[in-house]
Amino acid sequence: MEYQNILEEIHDALKNVPDKGTVPSYIPELEKISPDRLGLYLLTWNKEEYGTGDFDIPFSIQSISKVLSLAKALNFTGADLWKRVDVEPSGNPFNFLSLLELEKGIPRNPFINAGAIVVSDILLSHLEDPKRDFLNYIRELAEDDSITYNESVARSEKATGFRNAAAANLLKSFGNMNNKVDDVLDFYYYQCSLSMTCKQLARTFYMFTNSGKNATGKTFLTPSQAKRINAIMLTCGFYDEAGEFAFEVGLPGKSGVGGGIVAIHPEKYCMVTWSPGLNEKGNSLLGMKALEMFTTKTGLSIF
Ligand code: GLN
Repeated sequence: MEYQNILEEIHDALKNVPDKGTVPSYIPELEKISPDRLGLYLLTWNKEEYGTGDFDIPFSIQSISKVLSLAKALNFTGADLWKRVDVEPSGNPFNFLSLLELEKGIPRNPFINAGAIVVSDILLSHLEDPKRDFLNYIRELAEDDSITYNESVARSEKATGFRNAAAANLLKSFGNMNNKVDDVLDFYYYQCSLSMTCKQLARTFYMFTNSGKNATGKTFLTPSQAKRINAIMLTCGFYDEAGEFAFEVGLPGKSGVGGGIVAIHPEKYCMVTWSPGLNEKGNSLLGMKALEMFTTKTGLSIF
C-alpha cells in the first residue's frame, strides 16, 4: 500500500482546517505550543517507516507515558499489580476522583490519573534511581539515547497539580501508596514530561505490535502482558471517549494532553499523531481525525 501518499493526503486535508481544538491551559508550559503543529508517523510491523509534517519535533507525551510506566511496573509485580488497580473503563475524565473514593482506593484503571499514580508508586518502590532508570528503560525501548524529560513542563505541572495531589492523598489515606505522596507525585510529573517525537514514540510502542519485543527483538513484556495492555488501551485509552475512539478508529491507543496519540494494530503497525489542540474530552482533535481517516482509507482496523 502507498502509505506515504496516504499520510500526506491526510496531512494536507487536515493542516488548514479552521477548528484545531484547544491547547490546554491547566499545565501552563503546554499552553505555549502552537496549535498548528501536525505530525503523523507510521511504523509497520515489518519495520517500514513513513512520516509527514512535524513528526520529528519533540512534544510532551503526558498520559501516553502511563502505558510505559504500566509496562515497566508489570516487570516487577506481574499480575499482583491488579490487586492495586482495576481494569474497567471509567467513562469519566482523566482527572476524575469520586470513583476512587467509592471503591476504597482501588482506581478504576491504570490510565486515569489515580491509577497511573499507583503505578508510579510501584515504580518508586522498585527502581533504584527512579527517574534515571525509567528514562533508561524508555531509551532502550526506543533505541534512542537522546530522549529526555522536559523539566520545565514537570515543574509547571507540579505547581498547578492540585487535583493530582488530592488523588495521591486519597490513595495514601486508603493505604494504596507505599512511598511519600510528594515523591510519588514528583516522579509522576517527570514521567508525564517525557519529551518525544512521533517517530521516537512509534519505535517505543513497537513492542505492543510485536507481542512484547521491541524492534531489535529484545523482550520487554510477555505476549500475554502485551495483549492485556492493548486491551486496556482499547477500553480505557481515551477516558470518556474510549467508545468513540473504538467506534471511529477501531484500534487500541493512548492519548495525552500534549496532543499526542499512539495507536496500535497488533502485528500490523504502530501509528503516532501529534496535534496539540484538544477536543472537550482532552484528546487531540485532529489526531483522532487523522487516525479515523487512516483506518478508513486503508481498511486496517482491528475490527
Ligand atoms: N500529566 C497530566 C495530568 O496528570 C496527564 C493528563 C493527560 O495527558 N490526560 O493531568
